[in-house]
This record gives sequence, structure tokens and C-alpha cells, in this order.
Amino acid sequence: MEATALNAGSRPRSPEVLRTSNAAALSLRLAAGRFYRDVELGGINVLLDYERGCHANCAYCGLARERAGTYEDKSFIRVDWPAYPTDRIIEQMARQAERMGRFCISQVVHPRTHPDTLEIIRRFRARTDTPISVLCAPPVLNRERLQQYKDAGVDMIGVGLDAVTEETFERRRGRAVRGGLQWKKYWEIILRSREIFGPWKVNCHVVVGLGDADRAILEFSARARRAQIYAYLFCFFPEPGSAMAGARRPSLFRWRRIQLLKHLLEAGDIRPGDIQYNRRGAVARASIPRALVDRAIEDGIAFMTNGCPDQRTGLVSCTRPFGSYRPGEPWRDYPFVPTAADRTAIRRQLRLDRWVHYR
Ligand code: SF4
Repeated sequence: MEATALNAGSRPRSPEVLRTSNAAALSLRLAAGRFYRDVELGGINVLLDYERGCHANCAYCGLARERAGTYEDKSFIRVDWPAYPTDRIIEQMARQAERMGRFCISQVVHPRTHPDTLEIIRRFRARTDTPISVLCAPPVLNRERLQQYKDAGVDMIGVGLDAVTEETFERRRGRAVRGGLQWKKYWEIILRSREIFGPWKVNCHVVVGLGDADRAILEFSARARRAQIYAYLFCFFPEPGSAMAGARRPSLFRWRRIQLLKHLLEAGDIRPGDIQYNRRGAVARASIPRALVDRAIEDGIAFMTNGCPDQRTGLVSCTRPFGSYRPGEPWRDYPFVPTAADRTAIRRQLRLDRWVHYR
């Protein structure tokens, strides 16, 4: 049965209430409607909900402290996140457990974040054993708190590092925007999480389009792989009203090329030395066997959303449809295995003859 989203005003906040995307509300049958190309979500993302919202001020984020408007009216990845009672969301997750691969709690920088996260995990675990990810807010965490998540049954930790160099991090999230976030603290939490949660149980979100060059992004993903940490690509899409509202998205060509090269590096099919860059750190040329390029395009995985897996299938569970493109636009990351028509479009978008040297 559908549920009505809660209005602002004097309604309760987390842990009694969580915000979730419209897509998740549809998938959980909390709201009526269908999605473009009948996309169904395999994982549900929820966001902690506080009256004064997030205390950080990232230049590209809809929830940024200094972005105009009340927290209630602020969008996150350009879509509204209606609020629902936590227990109602958990009940719907439990009812549809067979269809659901993962539950992800997105933290915000707020003093109540840690105790409320623990309470939500406890309630969720009491109803269903669907794996839990916490997309964490490093400023409010430490080793002990991470261990508490592990002990409470959290399966994976995500860190929204977003920028892969300290310079870009400071410019978009740190001192330059009075954001208060610290590169060192983010790395402390990534490394502690890796110790506590183990190999392939930690991921870093990486946003293409914040200012880091192709070289920095691809070298970061190769380093993360060596540390058995996932690097999940996100494609920047300007959030109206944010400090980066007027910034340009990465071109589809650049995005596809990074998707393909990251995939081949992670699969061990090519080495970092097979890629050459220009002075600005953009890919200039790559030396790749033709069969590997054809195989990567044919199986399509390289062009799907990067996200935490559904343990049962090994396929991505967190598909975030329309997180970085609008319905009707070319897909940036596909929330399903691309069809033959999609793969034809991908090959065209890659413009392989301009930069691939077949060996
Ligand atoms: S990839 Fe998705 S499920 Fe995993 S931590 Fe990030 S937002 Fe959460």
C-alpha cells in the first residue's frame, strides 16, 4: 500500500524519519508510478534527515549548508528526496527482501548522525538480513564507531571522497568553500574501514568532472584496486543552486573513455603504462588489443553503474538510475546490462579511432 511522504514543519526527524529518492519510493511501492524503461532498483538508498541538514558545504552538492533554501526544499543529486517513516521503509524492504540486494544509509555531517545510524541499523537488522552499506560522513567517525557498525551487521562502507587529489578536494569541499572537510580525515577513515571491514568491503566514490584529470582518476582507481578497495565512478551533473551550478559536465566521450579504461585496468587487461596522457593529464592514446576492446563493449559491464553488489548475484545492486543524466538523454551509467542498441551507441560515443592504438 502506498504511503504519503511526510511534510516539513514539526514532523519527527531521524532516526524516526528517513529521506529516500523518488525512484526508491517507487521501487518500495511507497509511491505509485513507473520508471523510464521500467528500471527497478535493486538497492535502496536512504538519507538521514535533520532540520538543519548537513553542516558541510561541498561546491557541487544540493544539500550544501550555504546553498539557498531550507534543507527540506533542497534536492540531492538533482531529485527530491521525500521523507517517510523509518519503520515504514524497513517494513517495505522486509516485504520485498527477495527483490532487494542492499540497503544503504547515507550519512550527513551532523552531531546526531552516529547514534541515529546505529539505531536504524538495529531496527533494520531486527526485520531483515538484506546487506547494509553505510555511505559514511568521515568528520563524525573514528575507529570505534566504524567497529560498532561492523559489529551491528554492516557489510560495506562507502566513502564519498569524490575528488581524487588533495588540491581538488580542498577546492570543492575544503577550505576554498568553507566546507570544513579534511582530506586527511577522509583518508584516515578509508584506511580504518579497510582494516576493519576487510578486502573489497570498502569503496570510494569518485566524481568525474570536479577538476581531476583523467590521469589522476585512472591512477587512483589502479591504486585502489591494489589496496582491494573499490573505486566507484560517478559523473558530475550540476546541481541547480549549488556553487558549481554553472560548471560543465564531462563530455560523453571523456566519460565513456574513462569507463572503458578503468574497467580494463581493473580487470588486469591493460597496465597503467599502456595509457599515454597529454600535458593536462587527459588521455591521449592507449595501446590495447582489439579483442579486449570488443569484449568490453560486448559484455557492457564497463558502462554500467558502479556500486555495491548484490551478494546473491555479484551484480551491482546500487544502480542509481538518472543520477547523472535525465530520462531521454544518453545514459551515462546504465542501471542494467546495455542492450545491443545501447552497445552500438556506446561504440559510437567512444570514437575509438581517435585514441586507441590496436596492438
Ligand atoms: S555505491 Fe551505493 S550502496 Fe554503495 S556506498 Fe555508494 S551509495 Fe551506498
